Amino acid sequence: MAEHNFDVVILGGGSGGYAAALRSAQLGLSVALIERDKLGGTCLHRGCIPTKALLHSAEVADVTREAASYGVQASLQGIDMPAVNKYRDGIIDRLFKGLTGLVGSKQITVVSGEGRMVGQKSISVNGDTYTGKNLVLATGSFSKTLPGLDIAGRVITSDQALQLDFVPEKAIVLGGGVIGVEFASIWKSFGCDVTIIEGLPTLVPNEDPAVSKALERAYRKRGINFKTGVKFSGVQQSATGVIVSLENGESFDAELLLVAVGRGPNTAGFGYEENGVKMDRGYVLTNERLETSISGVYAAGDIVPGLQLAHRGFQQGIFIAEEIAGLKPVAIDELGIPKVTYCEPEIASVGLSEPKAAEMYGAENISVYEYNLGGNGKSQILGTAGFIKLIRRNNGPVIGIHMIGSRVGEQVGEAQLIVNWEAFPEEVASLVHAHPTQNEALGEAHLALAGKPLHAHA
Ligand SMILES: Cc1cc2nc3c(=O)[nH]c(=O)nc-3n(C[C@H](O)[C@H](O)[C@H](O)COP(=O)(O)OP(=O)(O)OC[C@H]3O[C@@H](n4cnc5c(N)ncnc54)[C@H](O)[C@@H]3O)c2cc1C
Repeated sequence: MAEHNFDVVILGGGSGGYAAALRSAQLGLSVALIERDKLGGTCLHRGCIPTKALLHSAEVADVTREAASYGVQASLQGIDMPAVNKYRDGIIDRLFKGLTGLVGSKQITVVSGEGRMVGQKSISVNGDTYTGKNLVLATGSFSKTLPGLDIAGRVITSDQALQLDFVPEKAIVLGGGVIGVEFASIWKSFGCDVTIIEGLPTLVPNEDPAVSKALERAYRKRGINFKTGVKFSGVQQSATGVIVSLENGESFDAELLLVAVGRGPNTAGFGYEENGVKMDRGYVLTNERLETSISGVYAAGDIVPGLQLAHRGFQQGIFIAEEIAGLKPVAIDELGIPKVTYCEPEIASVGLSEPKAAEMYGAENISVYEYNLGGNGKSQILGTAGFIKLIRRNNGPVIGIHMIGSRVGEQVGEAQLIVNWEAFPEEVASLVHAHPTQNEALGEAHLALAGKPLHAHA
């Protein structure tokens, strides 16, 4: 029943929490970081890293399958899922060791166990109380499901999907958002017959409509089935499979149903509301300084309404530490956060979509240019199709960049600099982009939007 006092007490050691801990320690603050499972959270153990490892194995499978078209004699014998998982776990283990070592080297007190808020600045863990001059809540999120749809047996979420030691022959993915299309991409590359069911009218409905359309075209070409604008009504499980029915009377059978309908805030039962933290439907409300309704109590990551992305969590964690240390950091612009969906073809975007830009500035006050990757040498070498779509304010800066094509996620770094630094297309057009790279396509798109296209029609 000991009492411990720190400058900063952080609940949750995922992307948001551990970033806050590392930056706080760098700034000379004493820190307690409370984690009930493993440092690194969802991103490292059940999210970004494991899925991207599987997507890389999927890419290797696709390249092997198509080897003859590159003049290489190779054939795909099959997918050894335990070996794929071993490769993935090796990456997680190395990163986990690195993170644990990093946190350990910074004089951060890591407390193992589940914490609960027991006062405005206090967390109780295993009977001990940790009181901070400041508190950071960063307890992350969980896979949601639909009312009446129980996760059990052959009805799984991404957590169980990552543990499979076999490739399903046939799978249904409920939800055509980021996680749904990524798993559909992985499974298809591994040889599974996949069908995505999405209630909204398009796949990846949060992206620019041109990107959604292009992904649908690419998925059709890859033989990934999807039904959009349809409502799920129920699922029946047997010893060998599932039958999923829709409200329109259609039904589909498969070996597994992956439920990928979004993630909810992991906040229930941790004493937040009881201790005065203002919440909305389980999310912790903050101001733009990420401070909750209680002064000195902050929140970071997926429990804060907005994009549920690891790099947003990192940035929020850093921001909070600097705010606590009195550095007055610049508020994070949510619109400037880059997004990548790592399916094949990849999707990367930052800033406003065309409809949002038109709504905000008026359709007559924006210009749009779409550069087809058909004109980009490196994309041709990789055998990928796609485009880079730019949106600018007339006589003003670029306010949205939307890309689709193999590996375009690697181009989002420059895209986010352009949008966040409010660059004009004319300024980007004067920067030299290396040839032949896919990055060059970003340069070419800006050349065209600046009125001087090179490998493109005006
Ligand atoms: C399948 C999948 C793929 C994803 N891919 C990407 C991607 O490619 N790129 C990307 O940017 N994002 C991706 N994400 C999202 C990303 O993982 C999250 O946005 C990020 O992990 C959120 O960080 P966080 O700190 O808010 O929460 P988390 O990482 O979930 O960390 C919260 C931590 O708090 C701990 N905790 C919770 N409650 C308590 C308690 N009461 N006491 C003690 N400890 C507690 C948990 O054990 C956990 O470790 C993906 C997510 C999933 C599920």
